[in-house]
Amino acid sequence: MKVWIDPGHGGSASGAVKGSRMEKDDTLKLAKLVKAAFERCGINTIMTRTTDVFVSLKDRTDLENKNNCDLAVSLHRNSAADSSACGVETWMHSKAPASYIKWGEDVLKELEKVGVSKNRGVKKGFTGDANSDYAVNRDTKSPSMMIELGFISNDKDNGDYDKNLNAYSEAIVKACCNYLGAKYTENKPATSGTGSTTNTGTNGGTLYRVQVGAFENKENAEKLRDELKAKGYSAFIS
Ligand SMILES: [Zn+2]
Repeated sequence: MKVWIDPGHGGSASGAVKGSRMEKDDTLKLAKLVKAAFERCGINTIMTRTTDVFVSLKDRTDLENKNNCDLAVSLHRNSAADSSACGVETWMHSKAPASYIKWGEDVLKELEKVGVSKNRGVKKGFTGDANSDYAVNRDTKSPSMMIELGFISNDKDNGDYDKNLNAYSEAIVKACCNYLGAKYTENKPATSGTGSTTNTGTNGGTLYRVQVGAFENKENAEKLRDELKAKGYSAFIS
């Protein structure tokens, strides 16, 4: 299986802007996490860009067309003159069948579980024109969706975006796996080296260890231990 991931805008095309914050940077950050999550779940990905470069809409959709993708996801952030406008929405092709709409609703539902200011729903067509379509929906072959993940013109949405970026990427991938019938594998932190990561407590229950760092250099380990102790944690070197 292969998913086309499209971080909106790039290079000279900043997308929506709020102060020094640009949509093109936000979308790329999210896209990289979405890519990693898909690959963790055993799904191949193809990105329209991996750096801050301009890519035309035609080049983006041509890439999708050439690659026999199973799914196409374009990532964007919304913007409005009214700074109180907020929330997330997905855009589907004007003639998207019910199954696509359900997929869009699932993405929004998963994002809501993480926490968004508002679920603005699944929309069809093009802003102000239900019979027109965004190129990323019109010119892609696989089931496609454009996600507007919050308003860059809204401070709360930007705060949520920064705080939840990783969880948002997982929410999107979870809903997409569900649509594809693929198994979503949770993102478990890597466990270190040898040995078991759990111990048994005095009452026979499982004790979970929290590891902060692992160093080849003992001095670095001691330094971190002292830092943790200074912050009030009980820490030891094993
Ligand atoms: Zn955009």
